[in-house]
Amino acid sequence: MVTALLFSPLIPGGDAPITLQPPLSLPLWGAVLGGYLACSTVCGLLGRRFQRLERDVLVEMEAKLEKAQASAERYEALLGELSQGQERLKRMNEELALLNIIATAVNSSLDVGRVQQAAVTHLGSLLDVDEVQIYWYTPHGEQFALQAATGLDEDDVAALPVVSGEEGVFAHLLLSPRAVTISQATGDLYQRPSHMNKHVRSVLALPLRSGTRLLGALLLGRFSGSPFTEDDERFLDSLGRILSVAIENATLFMQAQELSLSDELTGLANRRMFNLRLGNELARVKATGVPLCLIIFDLDFFKQVNDVHGHPAGDEVLCQFARRVQQDIRGADLLCRLGGEEFALLVPDTPPAVAIAIAERICKRIAQTPFVLANGIAQPLTVSAGVAELRDLTNAMDSLVAHADTALYAAKAAGRNQVKMYQAEEKAAVAVELN
Ligand code: GH3
Ligand code: MG
Ligand code: MG
Repeated sequence: MVTALLFSPLIPGGDAPITLQPPLSLPLWGAVLGGYLACSTVCGLLGRRFQRLERDVLVEMEAKLEKAQASAERYEALLGELSQGQERLKRMNEELALLNIIATAVNSSLDVGRVQQAAVTHLGSLLDVDEVQIYWYTPHGEQFALQAATGLDEDDVAALPVVSGEEGVFAHLLLSPRAVTISQATGDLYQRPSHMNKHVRSVLALPLRSGTRLLGALLLGRFSGSPFTEDDERFLDSLGRILSVAIENATLFMQAQELSLSDELTGLANRRMFNLRLGNELARVKATGVPLCLIIFDLDFFKQVNDVHGHPAGDEVLCQFARRVQQDIRGADLLCRLGGEEFALLVPDTPPAVAIAIAERICKRIAQTPFVLANGIAQPLTVSAGVAELRDLTNAMDSLVAHADTALYAAKAAGRNQVKMYQAEEKAAVAVELN
């Protein structure tokens, strides 16, 4: 019955009610229905299970996708870092090449002036800067003296006054062991160093050091005002160290040279320096024909000072004599200690009459004012002098010294505390007198 009702609307074209006879028995229908219900329950359960599985798979896929995305991002970041690293490597290579060029240039000479000039020229042309300056620091008085600068020659530089360590960047350098950068664009700090071009808008000041000792400063300036970066600072720090070593080497070399040419006790030029200078002066005389005279001084009875007051007192007299004569001569004259209590004074461009007057003035002043020994004792002393003029250019060096010596012996022989001029015919007579 239920089955008939169930199937009647499905029969097309039939007016008369059709009574359908169930093809299967009711229990069988029950079993089918039961089976259907069981199936749909199982299917439902399986569906939900599949849905859960699907969700799990989706979640898992999403997680994998996120991981893949993160890996891709990391990969991209790594690529970025790699290209940055390559950039840095390239820059470092360029910097190394630059340092190499500059190091070669500044180490190619042991003349401090040339080293500094080479540094200024090379830094100016190889770096992105418009002005380069090198200063030397004097701890006494805390001052910085300009040594070399873009666009200035030696005379310009020498004419500029020293800069006080209290001024702008220099004050910072005295406090800090690192570079100081200042820029008009970025800071109130900006105060252009007084000797810098007025167009400079940003400055990097680098200390030049030997260990912890401040030797000087390297200043770089830009007209554009674009500030110096940390990279610039790092690179210039290496450069500063190269420059410091080169300048210090050259300074030490010059000091050693000076030491080998100067007398340890008095600080005057020694015989080596005298010979070098005499060689130069002889060349000048040959080229220009200007007169050249030599005076040799010898302290009278100096041995007695040693004998009475001791060797240190004798040393003190030698030093005082050197100072007093040095104060009494022109800048072009060269006073040197030949040895013992014998001194030579080379007076270039001077005729004999003037040389004699110079020698007499010195003898007179020495005799007038006694030397003062360490214990306060006044020690009167006199000095004798022989003067010779360069006449014959053959064997000039030896003959000039020999002639002045001959004249000196003549002065000693004539009673000391006086000046004698060399006369060619005098030689034999003096020699006889001394024997
Ligand atoms: P004269 O008037 O004839 O020149 O007599 P003098 O005593 O000055 O000359 P002499 O040659 O007899 O003595 C020179 C002395 O100078 C002897 C030497 O010990 C001394 N002397 C040489 N070099 C030095 C030095 O560096 N320091 C000191 N204190 N004495 C020196
Ligand atoms: Mg003497
Ligand atoms: Mg002597």
